[in-house]
This record gives sequence, C-alpha cells and structure tokens, in this order.
Amino acid sequence: DLRPIRRALLSVSDKTGLAEFGTALAEMGCELVSTGGTAKALREAGLTVADVADLTGFPEMMDGRVKTLHPVVHGGLLAVRGNAEHEAAMEAHGIGPIDLVVVNLYPFEATVAAGGDYNTCIENIDIGGPAMIRSAAKNHDGVCVVVDTEDYAAVLAELEANGGKTGLAFRQGLAQTAYARTAAYDTAVSSWMAGAVGVEHPRRVSVSGTLSSTMRYGENPHQNAAFYTDGRQRPGVATAQQHQGKALSYNNINDTDAAFELISELGDAGPACAIIKHANPCGVATGATLAEAYSRAFDCDRTSAFGGIIALNGELDGETARQIVEIFTEVVIAPSASAEAVEIFAAKKNLRLLTTGGLADPFEPAQVIKQVSGGFLRQDKDIGHIGLDDLKCVTKKQPSEAELNDMLFAWRVAKHVKSNAIIYVKDGATVGVGAGQMSRVDSTRIAAQKARDMAEVMGLEAPLTQGSVVASDAFFPFPDGLLTAAEAGATAVIQPGGSMRDDKVIEAADEAGIAMVLTGQRHFRH
Ligand code: 5GP
Repeated sequence: DLRPIRRALLSVSDKTGLAEFGTALAEMGCELVSTGGTAKALREAGLTVADVADLTGFPEMMDGRVKTLHPVVHGGLLAVRGNAEHEAAMEAHGIGPIDLVVVNLYPFEATVAAGGDYNTCIENIDIGGPAMIRSAAKNHDGVCVVVDTEDYAAVLAELEANGGKTGLAFRQGLAQTAYARTAAYDTAVSSWMAGAVGVEHPRRVSVSGTLSSTMRYGENPHQNAAFYTDGRQRPGVATAQQHQGKALSYNNINDTDAAFELISELGDAGPACAIIKHANPCGVATGATLAEAYSRAFDCDRTSAFGGIIALNGELDGETARQIVEIFTEVVIAPSASAEAVEIFAAKKNLRLLTTGGLADPFEPAQVIKQVSGGFLRQDKDIGHIGLDDLKCVTKKQPSEAELNDMLFAWRVAKHVKSNAIIYVKDGATVGVGAGQMSRVDSTRIAAQKARDMAEVMGLEAPLTQGSVVASDAFFPFPDGLLTAAEAGATAVIQPGGSMRDDKVIEAADEAGIAMVLTGQRHFRH
C-alpha cells in the first residue's frame, strides 16, 4: 500500500512553511502544480511550478470563485489507481494523476473574527478548496491530503521513512483530519449564518473543535480524554499561557474554566478572588487588595479550599502569591502575574500558573452544548444580569445600602454555583455556599452549617452568617428555606420570586423581620 508522490497540487491561503515544503517535494522529484498566489510564492522561492489554469485550459475566473473546479483536477484526484476503466478515462481525457493535495482554505473564520461585513464573509467561503480536500480524502487509497501547515513535517518524515512513498495508514489519518477540517469549515459558515441572519432555532447544528492537548485520563482514570478548542481568541482557559507545572488534567480544565468565568463576572467589583472545587466556588470575596480578597475567600471554607483552583480578577502580586503558596493549590488563573509572583510560584513545582491577558466579557453571547444520550442540547449561554433598578422589594423591611450591595454580589456568585444554589454573603465575601443539592432547604442548611464549622475553626463567637444576606438562584417553593436562612442570621434575601406560594414566603420574611428583594430572573445551573 505504499504510494509515491509524483505530482502535487498546492493551493493555500496561509503560505506558512510553503516554500520549505515545496522545495523538499521538488528535491524528491515531485512535480508541482498550483493556483495563482501559491504558484507565485513557490516561484519566488525559486521553484518550477505549473499553473492549474494551463492544466484546465481555463483561466481562474469570477474573482477566484472558479479555479480548480474542473475534471482535469478532480479526475486526477478521484481516479482509482490500478482501475483499468478509470485509467482508460484518464487517458481518453488527458487527465494526469495528482498524488498529493495541499490545501488550506480561505480564512473564513478569521474574516468573521475580524468583523468582516456580510459580503466579505460570503466571498471568504472557499468552494474549490474543500472540493479538492474531499476528493483527495475520499481517494486516500491513492492520494495524500494535507490541510494543516503543521502536517508538512509529518509528510516529509513519512516520505523519508518509506523511500519517497506514503503508507495507507498515514493517508487514512490525513483523510480523517481532512474531513474534520471541511466539516469544521462548514460548521463555521453555518454558525456565522445563523447569527448573521438571525436563525433562532437552526434546523441543523454541528459542533467542531481542534485537538489542543490529550490528557492522561478524563474525569476518572479509566476514561480517555482530550481538549479541543474552537479557535475563538477570547481570554479563558483555552487561550491562557501556562507558566509552570505539569499539564492540566480534565478536571483542572473544567474547574479552571468555572473559576475564570466567575471571576470575569466580578471584573468591576474591585480586587476579587474565587476559589473553586469540583466546579463550584467554596469561597468568593472582594477586598481592599487581592491578598485580602484571597484571604477572605479562603476563610469562607478553609477545609474545601485545599487543593482548589484560584481565579483572580487582577494581576497576581507578590503578597497574594506568598499567601497562596501556604497551602496546596492546583491552579491559579489571573489576567497577569508580577515578576515577583512568578518567582514565588516557581518554587512550587506542582502549582500551575495561568495568565490570560485579561478577563472574559461575561455578557458576550455564546452557545452552550450539553450532550445527552442520542444528541445534545443547545442553549444560549446564561449572560443574564441584573442591576439595582431591577430589584423589587416585597417586604415591609427595606434592605440597607450595604445589604443591597452584598445581595448583588451574592446574586452574581449564585449564577456560577450548581443548583440548588444558596449563597450567604457579608461585606463582599461569601460566608457560606450551598451547592448542588436536590432540595433548596438542604442547600440553605449546608451553607449555614459550613459557616458554623468555620466559626469553630476560626474561634469566632458567632458564625459569619450572622448579619449576612442570602441569595437563592431560584425561588423558594416554601417558606422553610427562607426560615432556615433567617435562623442562620441572614437579614436580607435576594431571589427571583415567581413561586405559587410567593405570598407565604413574603409573609414568613415579614414575620422574621428580614428584607427580601425579587430579581424576576433565575440562574439555574446544572
Ligand atoms: P492562491 O493564493 O493560490 O491564488 O489561492 C489559494 C486558495 O484558493 C486556497 O485557499 C484554495 O483553497 C482556494 N481555491 C482553490 N481552488 C478554488 C476554486 O476553484 N474556488 C474557490 N472559491 N477557491 C479555490
């Protein structure tokens, strides 16, 4: 199954590595055929290149829309090697075999990312390129197809290893990559169109990604896993720079993402820190400095913070770094890190530091995909947010300004906690987090219990929930959850409202003498 490469067709928008690759192919005696810009670049590198236009007998036309779409190209790609009928057809129509196709496509994704207008995006939809890729990939039994500039080296290595030939398994691998590329390309076009023309529920949707890294295992050691990126250049775990330490695991990436998305939501809150465990925050706090924010976040639940993932909304400084290294932490993610902080972390080999260059825009629309058996669910990302003006006070008691600020902070945190989420907050710091319980009253109790445990650890007279505010990600279906919060010392409640028994819950709040505001918006997260 070894096949030589006698003739190659190169047609690339991204000319990275082209001259070197073309030169290596030519040195092996391979004939080169190219489209306009690619042929020009190869000639500038001193190579002899035939023009596709000479092959087809047609000039490139219609602004390049039609260049390679011709039987002389596609016949040369699709003809089955060794098939007498196919070979007779080639002979009859003057079609020569093409053994290697090197194509990278018009930069559609980059055009969209750069904010290209409708017609510019349309013009950047490559037609002939994907057609050649798909023809060559189908006929991988005889043809090599290369769609990534990073794969040039692998092709040369394969040729080197096999005396100027390629093996079937190698060509099959290239074909698989090739179809993933054309699928991703059309996915990009389709998602752009859905947005550009406002298709609310596209009849068909596909997702695509590019392998970024493989992991030793997934959520558990018996699960194989890898990380795929979507190419969006947005600050986050996918684009962050890792300064030190071993590669991130599946759980690390999942938790780091949760940490960074939460802290990005607190971009305007002053110095803030979030500590995440199992994708839920076990402490989120603001402070006069990042060091203070970290220490207050830590005090929410010191036990759970061990081995956590920390996100900061500003530059990691030396003082904060010194505090962080006092206990074991898996990952720290921040927009940037001072030289001093980097040096302090350098001594901790197992601590990974990621810098992102900025915070993510928490209000940027995005899609969320969740796989279920037999398919997946697609929804808009939860970018819902409320301000002071959206709050409706429904109790006799009005919240104080300090309570209002704490409630808005608690509400923003609640959005990032698995439902049922209950968050107690005091002075811009969480003091109790109840996450992921099947009953809201249980989340309320657990969060209060954690606060009592911390009071004991810290030798406090009363738990920090005393005089706190509490946020609930969805309405209280019964007064019991609210009463539990009041017992724990909460003086004000923020929740969406909308329960059939809202009046009972409001009555209970009035009886307990606490203030309650409704947001009219909920933040389920599962
Ligand atoms: P060049 O820079 O060589 O002039 O053009 C290379 C680009 O043209 C590649 O991205 C390739 O995918 C694309 N291409 C090749 N043939 C065709 C065609 O027939 N139609 C269109 N629209 N694009 C083509």
